[in-house]
Amino acid sequence: MSFIIAIDGPAGSGKTTTAKRVAQILKVIYLDTGAMYRAVGYYVLSKLGDTLDEEKIKPLLSEIEIRFENVSSERRIFLNGQDISDEIRNEKMSQMASRVSTLKSVRDFLVEEQRRISKDTSLVAEGRDIGTVVFPDAQLKFYMDCTIEERAKRRFLEYSEKNIEADLEDIKRQIAERDERDKSRAHAPLKMAKDAILIDTTRLSKEEQIKFVVSKAQELKDCV
Ligand code: C5P
Repeated sequence: MSFIIAIDGPAGSGKTTTAKRVAQILKVIYLDTGAMYRAVGYYVLSKLGDTLDEEKIKPLLSEIEIRFENVSSERRIFLNGQDISDEIRNEKMSQMASRVSTLKSVRDFLVEEQRRISKDTSLVAEGRDIGTVVFPDAQLKFYMDCTIEERAKRRFLEYSEKNIEADLEDIKRQIAERDERDKSRAHAPLKMAKDAILIDTTRLSKEEQIKFVVSKAQELKDCV
């Protein structure tokens, strides 16, 4: 029987590291829904520039084909056949993703895609509305949270490791702006599902987060 593990939470709370590794350990698919919003943001930016006009964006959605593929054991995202995995990982694209994700037509389009990808397969999906909207019947739901100081620090270190120039205070401000937009939008705002397990990752190591989720998943696997 297939099962779904939903992991939601704000930027930098540890979702990606945990979801990726847990999926690997459980040998199931890892679904990065944030990358899908980034892909739409990327396409909109390339076609229309910095606009958020839903009437102009709507017709573009039917031109978008998003696909995930494993390349050298790494999950890569393809937009209309082009690997854009690296291009979508910067602050500009984080903000574009967050802005287009406020539009109902974009959300409807991607939620349908996410459900299609997930049909009849077990997976670990991460995002902002996985446990509340995309898979309300997921067998296991987590909400990862963390102080903004720690989240900004983690993002800063991530950029440093990749030799991307960044300023800690700028990152903190950008994360706060994104949190605010994601939590206050009208459609599918970021919030904890009633039946989700809260994990405060402020003082947890990556290994501890992963171990906790895997242990809950193993209890679940014993039951399904
Ligand atoms: O997870 P990531 O930081 O890549 O997500 C980028 C943006 O995409 C988020 O700030 C959020 O606005 C949007 N998003 C969303 N719903 C999801 C996943 C991401 O609205 N399920």
